Amino acid sequence: MSGTRKDGEQGGSQGVTRRHMTLSAYDNAMTQFDQAIKVLGLKPNQVAMIKDPRKVIILTLPVRMDDGRIEVFTAYRVQHSIVRGPAKGGVRYHQDVTLDEVKALALWMTMKCAVVDIPFGGGKGGIVVDPTRLSRSELENLSRRYFAALADDIGPDQDVPAPDVNTNAQVMAWFMDTYSMHFKRHLPAVVTGKPLQVGGSRGRDIATAQGVVFCLEEAADHLKMDLKGATVAIQGFGNAGANAARLLAEKGARIVAISDVTGGYQNDAGIDVEAAIAWKKEHNGLLTRFETSKKAKAMKNPMQLLELPVDILIPAALENQITGENAPRVRARVVAEAANGPCTPDADEVLNAKGTFIIPDILCNAGGVTVSYFEWVQNRVGFYWPLEQVIQELRRVMATSFHAVLDASIQYKVPMRVAAFIVAINRLTAAAELRGLYA
Ligand code: NAD
Repeated sequence: MSGTRKDGEQGGSQGVTRRHMTLSAYDNAMTQFDQAIKVLGLKPNQVAMIKDPRKVIILTLPVRMDDGRIEVFTAYRVQHSIVRGPAKGGVRYHQDVTLDEVKALALWMTMKCAVVDIPFGGGKGGIVVDPTRLSRSELENLSRRYFAALADDIGPDQDVPAPDVNTNAQVMAWFMDTYSMHFKRHLPAVVTGKPLQVGGSRGRDIATAQGVVFCLEEAADHLKMDLKGATVAIQGFGNAGANAARLLAEKGARIVAISDVTGGYQNDAGIDVEAAIAWKKEHNGLLTRFETSKKAKAMKNPMQLLELPVDILIPAALENQITGENAPRVRARVVAEAANGPCTPDADEVLNAKGTFIIPDILCNAGGVTVSYFEWVQNRVGFYWPLEQVIQELRRVMATSFHAVLDASIQYKVPMRVAAFIVAINRLTAAAELRGLYA
């Protein structure tokens, strides 16, 4: 297994978390970027204009806790690129967040926005915190402190955050309110993924999963497989994973395994997805002991979910889940990357060699940022679209982007991931050259 070991860093009790910490996501992102550069044969100056993050912000955030204590948190915001528009990307709350990870996620956002051709650059944020140990008011204090500290660097024309792992519409509402109060005017377009009541877009909650499903429909067509009756395993049962499970079940696919931080749950006859979602709601957002519902068996080792003999595998949790070590045992025909960076370059090599069709993250999960773009447009115009319009536009963007990547994959004779980077890098390079250097 290649990658940089992060000395001294230990994950949680699960093997998956430790695996996530032992590889450098940024090294992986760089490897992917370099693979495309090599195919394109770009000149060093062209690469220099688009490769490195333009701004890296490291914050120390003192926050008052409920018992009166002041606790200090480390947080980041990385603006990778503003070449094609304002930086755009989510904010993650997780105890394992590192600057390396945020830089990787920011680069992937730049590529993603370019792949789906929306007028944004890329950015990402993160706070090193286990949000489950904070009360609601502590979480609000931390969120507001983070946004206040960033006030000068973000904005509708500068950098537009959104939700990511462990952040949601409520957190976005706090962000928007903090920023609007700070500048004494209503500025909803500073952040996307807001609740509908404060300027959110219809369809944003399911957009990432819906985009995954639109990609899968195009892939199924290309591979001449049927989504109806296809077997699916999904790692991660949050915004991306649970909504993907629901949408695919509605299409007649059979969801045979799901997992979250509490474990893996399997039912070869098909998991009742609505029951799993209801269970999660009743159990503080977790699938804790879902097997006691008798709707599924608990898996001894949740990592084995990735190795089930399914038609479609959807990693929808964190980075570095499929590596050179377990990739030889992955048996899915299609891997649809709802998560960012779930496959390492080593894993890609193995999967590509055995003909697994990978729908890469920067294409597959771009539905979220696409509807974020629609939200930003609606905020700026002050006119709100019906859900049908959002879904119809999203379908158009995802299908067009899928085929742009597939065409590049055929033209350059490269796997889909390299093709997606090629599409993105071509668009970025063109924009960078047209703009030139200011000074
Ligand atoms: P979320 O917080 O809603 O859900 C994350 C899920 O993963 C939870 O069910 C959690 O329990 C589970 N999980 C965490 N660690 C796990 C582990 N080690 N094993 C199994 N499950 C684990 O987050 P989300 O928004 O659904 O994001 C999931 C992934 O999708 C991330 O990689 C994120 O960057 C990516 N993504 C999300 C969006 C979006 O709009 N939400 C858009 C693009 C990409």
